[in-house]
Amino acid sequence: MQAWSPVAVPATSQQFTALQVFDSVSQELVPLDCDREVTMYVCGITPYDATHMGHAATYVAFDTLQRIWRACGATVNYTQNVTDVDDPLIERALATGRKWQDIAEEQTDLFRSDMEALRVIPPANYIGAVESIDLVVERINQLAQAQSVYDLDGDLYYDISHARLLGQIAHLSRDEMIAVFSQRGGDPTREGKRDPLDALLWRHERPNDPSWETELGAGRPGWHIECAAIALKYLGNTIDVQGGGSDLKFPHHEMSAAHAETATGEQPFAKAFMHTGMVALGGEKMSKSLGNLVFVSKLTASGIDPMAIRLTILNNHYRSEWEWFDSSLDTAIARLDRWRSALNQSSGAPDITAEIGAAITNDLDTPRAIGLIDEWVHATLNGDTSTHGSPQSMAVTIDALLGIA
Ligand code: ZN
Repeated sequence: MQAWSPVAVPATSQQFTALQVFDSVSQELVPLDCDREVTMYVCGITPYDATHMGHAATYVAFDTLQRIWRACGATVNYTQNVTDVDDPLIERALATGRKWQDIAEEQTDLFRSDMEALRVIPPANYIGAVESIDLVVERINQLAQAQSVYDLDGDLYYDISHARLLGQIAHLSRDEMIAVFSQRGGDPTREGKRDPLDALLWRHERPNDPSWETELGAGRPGWHIECAAIALKYLGNTIDVQGGGSDLKFPHHEMSAAHAETATGEQPFAKAFMHTGMVALGGEKMSKSLGNLVFVSKLTASGIDPMAIRLTILNNHYRSEWEWFDSSLDTAIARLDRWRSALNQSSGAPDITAEIGAAITNDLDTPRAIGLIDEWVHATLNGDTSTHGSPQSMAVTIDALLGIA
């Protein structure tokens, strides 16, 4: 699948030497390797409805990680999927009388233009579920060889007793897992399952439901095996970072990791699992069901500078739960204006790239980095012209690390 337009990323004046991030499994800061090609998989959208600020915040966070990783010397192999066939998309098609393919194409296009506007570096591999059916079938066959698959009226399920990381990413009790499973696409109450938490790998064909003829019979893939199969194919058996919103910890990330690890003979699926906090509006988490959504595309269509949107996002730590306020966007617009005034000078306060690097290599502390830049801007606009050329080198740093042009 075609990703979106590339983004030019300048090299920072200094290379940072270490990077640590919070891992949801160990619940500690863990170091990431910087001296080689590293791999990152971030779960993509299900393109059935416009992507909102919560999605944008997740992709901006992992884009910032990629930028920092590069500034530490790594080459980042980034892969993202598009779940372009799944229940919500098919339900939307049935409800609106449109073809599911048309909805997927239209919404994926809108997502691409949002990502371009926010200057998110495109993934090296942007892979749809529909183009990955063969990969999924191959992995389900491997799972079957490992005796972890069973057939329930033609549907294939993964036997959860094989899952090494069950309970270790989201840290939920079994009762909590069962409750969350049913809220997030699982079917814990289906009769005939060995365990309520067994996950669907392959859904056999049904009327009005897209399906593909394969050696497993006609049907379509489950969501978790889709990500596992794509990540294994494009990034290898153990990836450096698996990322996504915190609502993907369970079941999605625990199930994907379980499928991948069983398929590869218990090789750890990821070295670190990173999750972004949810974004709220009007006191509640932004969600399609509540309808309390802010869209990047609507803001940019109304003339808002996408860089102000990116700056609003980055002014919150990626792991925090935060709320969108129009006043925060106003603050970012004013901040961007001040920054640009300072960056357009020929001389300014001394370059603080090293201090910014220290902040953001420590679990992507972008609010701290923005605070440091504010201080530099304040000094520069208040007459500190002690360093010729520092506004130009600061502009490079801000572009390279924060993606703000
Ligand atoms: Zn995924």
